Amino acid sequence: LNRRLAGFGTTVFAEMSALAVRTGSINLGQGFPDTDGPEQVREAAVRALREGRGNQYPPGPGVPELRTAIAGHQRRFRGLEYDPDTEVLVTAGATEAIAAALLALVEPGDEVIALEPYYDSYAACVAMAGGTRVPVTLRPSPGPGPAYRLDLDELRDAVTGRTRLILLNTPHNPTGTVLTREELTAIAELAVERDLLVVTDEVYEHLVFDGEHIPVASLPGMRERTVSISSAGKTFSFTGWKVGWVTGTPELVSAVRSAKQYLTYVSAGPFQYAVAEALALPDSYYTALREDLRAKRDLLADGLARAGFEVFRPAGTYFVTTDIRPLGESDGVAFCRALPERCGVVAVPNAVFYDHAAEGAHFVRFAFCKREEVLREAVERLGTLG
Ligand code: PMP
Ligand code: GLN
Repeated sequence: LNRRLAGFGTTVFAEMSALAVRTGSINLGQGFPDTDGPEQVREAAVRALREGRGNQYPPGPGVPELRTAIAGHQRRFRGLEYDPDTEVLVTAGATEAIAAALLALVEPGDEVIALEPYYDSYAACVAMAGGTRVPVTLRPSPGPGPAYRLDLDELRDAVTGRTRLILLNTPHNPTGTVLTREELTAIAELAVERDLLVVTDEVYEHLVFDGEHIPVASLPGMRERTVSISSAGKTFSFTGWKVGWVTGTPELVSAVRSAKQYLTYVSAGPFQYAVAEALALPDSYYTALREDLRAKRDLLADGLARAGFEVFRPAGTYFVTTDIRPLGESDGVAFCRALPERCGVVAVPNAVFYDHAAEGAHFVRFAFCKREEVLREAVERLGTLG
């Protein structure tokens, strides 16, 4: 492994999912649903396969049906207009979109600001691009209101002459924070003032329980400097299909496409036709997904609180972050390694999502994108910890 990737050996998700299988534990670690997305969308993929649509290399930017559907989705839910021919790019999941965006836009030595704790691929992709990551820490805030807060002064102070872009994620994995209009407006003003690009990872855009998802690209001065990323994985419960996308100006999308060409060339064909159909599902689909997950959030969050954890109830995503100190624990990594033996549940230590490891040492994340009976059993098992 070269020096750029030193320290990025195995992702925590692979390690924890392997631990779950080895110990026969309930896996609330890696975030993937334990039921698949809509039958009619699966049928659409089968139909595309049978009818020979997408079985050979699809067009580089993605099949036209999907690009049109992505533009339609941005218009329908966000009021944003993108030209399917020049302003939309289909990628192999949001993961590739993030990698291609950073590889295309970051010069060696450039600084990239990311909200800490951050999704693990950000650090690795900034490193592969030769950039330097500059973390700005989200911290739990006491009292009513959002469980986590962004310190805007800290964000402003993090910008230097070398800053190239701000990498945002809202709704935020692992904290479940949904950035507010005030926070996003301040970020947008900073980006305009300092002439920065913003790459925004919005894969949990439809999983918002409190407040609303605000796409940063919709704020004044931002459309021309924002690369927006989303994916079918979370919205349609097909994390294995790896269909993601980028929207932005023709210049930005074409830059990202240049990198994508040499990463995967194109993304898998038949799934693109199926996701095009999924994006057109009626509002009732999106509402039902959100309401189902809201009930699961409450089930798991209440159960964790009863088991003695301090719970930061998430406004979005399908993760709950907890503080383990009320249980007399302080090391989340050791806690997660021991948890399967102690009670047959797997979780993820947030420490791995921090540069400032001490900031996150005592936080542990649990996923609630699981069947209700699985969550009930997990809560029962966690209740025996005390
Ligand atoms: N960004 C965030 C914040 C995530 O949690 C994930 C995990 N699914 C991804 C990106 C990757 O998305 P995809 O599976 O579409 O590559
Ligand atoms: N996004 C998922 C999570 O945070 C997992 C994705 C992955 O395994 N790379 O758990």
